[in-house]
Amino acid sequence: MSELREECGVFGIYSQETQDVASTTYYGLFALQHRGQESCGIVVNDEGLFRYDKDGGLVNDVFTKPVLKKLGMGQMAIGHDRYSTTGNNDRDNAQPIVVKHHKGKMAVAHNGNIVNSFELRTQLELEGCIFHTTSDTEVIAYMITKERIKTHSIEKALNNAMSKIEGAYSLVIMSPQKILACRDPYGFRPLCYGQRSDGAYVVASETCALDAVGAEYIRDVEPGEIVVFSKNGVKSIKDHCGTKPHKICIFEYLYFARPDSIIEGKSVHRAREIAGELLAEQFPVDADIVVGVPDSGIDAAIGYAHKSGIPYGMGFIKNKYIGRTFIAPGQKNREDKVRIKLNVIKGTVEGKRVVLVDDSIVRGTTITRIIDLVRKAGAKEVHVMSSAPAFTDACYYGVDVDTKEHLIACQCDYDMKKIAEKVGADSVGYLDVNSLNEIIGNEPGEGFCSACFGTGYPTQVPTGQKDRFEEKINGAETEDEEEDYELYLRD
Ligand code: AMP
Repeated sequence: MSELREECGVFGIYSQETQDVASTTYYGLFALQHRGQESCGIVVNDEGLFRYDKDGGLVNDVFTKPVLKKLGMGQMAIGHDRYSTTGNNDRDNAQPIVVKHHKGKMAVAHNGNIVNSFELRTQLELEGCIFHTTSDTEVIAYMITKERIKTHSIEKALNNAMSKIEGAYSLVIMSPQKILACRDPYGFRPLCYGQRSDGAYVVASETCALDAVGAEYIRDVEPGEIVVFSKNGVKSIKDHCGTKPHKICIFEYLYFARPDSIIEGKSVHRAREIAGELLAEQFPVDADIVVGVPDSGIDAAIGYAHKSGIPYGMGFIKNKYIGRTFIAPGQKNREDKVRIKLNVIKGTVEGKRVVLVDDSIVRGTTITRIIDLVRKAGAKEVHVMSSAPAFTDACYYGVDVDTKEHLIACQCDYDMKKIAEKVGADSVGYLDVNSLNEIIGNEPGEGFCSACFGTGYPTQVPTGQKDRFEEKINGAETEDEEEDYELYLRD
């Protein structure tokens, strides 16, 4: 794997009145674009009739005026921004997934990764189910529809399916008459809802999307909870609440979420600022100026400056019209993009000892390029601070962390001197993993997941599809069968 990828954003609107739900969803997805830039989709529900469109590209590109016009008016809609973490990148895997089943139809938008997807998929396939995608969201959709056949409502079906699905899932589901918002019992991924002055309810991955569509935040969906929006009002089902330890992803606060979002009552901006303050305590340096790498390094840089007493300076200008660095395919292209994306404000760093704060150093490619830019602009010293601890392990809950051999901290045996040498810095500091709890004001290790920083997995770890297929390949009875399995893996 050569690229790091990020996760997804989900959105939904429920209204009693017919209105332009497609445009509202468009604005919601636009506000959540930072969570996924590979593909997006919107499904509109007009009196039970589902109209939808989804494709590869940014919200702005996919949902042109004619496309939105075609989606038309309705009473409900759901939408999704995707950056694949399981399944391939093609259009087939774009969400929401729309399914027709024995008792009706349903659209599903999912953020997260489930860890028993392969087992469930195998079991379903052996029962005769046919999959159209390689994404775990289709497995979730099947598990719900399978239960739907035996139950009288979509929420009961979802409630039953939740006992069988393990891992990270924040879901927005639309049936002909309802919108359902649901979070897995660990609460790995965020999800919240609010209401607009016209009475419409809005569900979103982050509060910044509620703000964008003029909805007043009501509350977060609780880990394990299903919230049902229907003509009967808002209903909460809490059978799965409290059945697992609370494990919101700490990387949401450090990198993924937008700083203007509030997750579970805690400001993302403030969490990053505290991370910067802690870095100043853990890695004090004699310096003249603190600069943050835009966008997600800035909040922590402000925290570092505030705590250390070293002035904060605006070190970079970012070209706003470029996507996140990682969209660029191929290493060469990625390096060019750093230069196109960022330029140094020479006067801020020239002749100075600079503290350079970024949200994370993963493979070290980005920071190496940035240090080079800062040095070329005349900085005397460059001390790099990462407000995320060093990555040590893969994430199975929706964040694509590169394999160990590509992680710079692993490559350098977690030796800060070696890392500094490799990236061309005078010194390097990563936030201490043991102080992560402080950024959200929790007890140590309580209430959040930091498995990618080496603190252990809260669930079973999935067996990769590749390993399973290798078993099958080895057990194949004919050469033809073996080849079929091998070709399947190319998908
Ligand atoms: P690098 O050290 O070159 O791998 O890049 C690190 C930069 O990538 C960070 O400063 C973040 O802005 C960004 N980043 C960190 N984690 C991820 C991720 N899982 N997906 C996409 N981008 C990421």
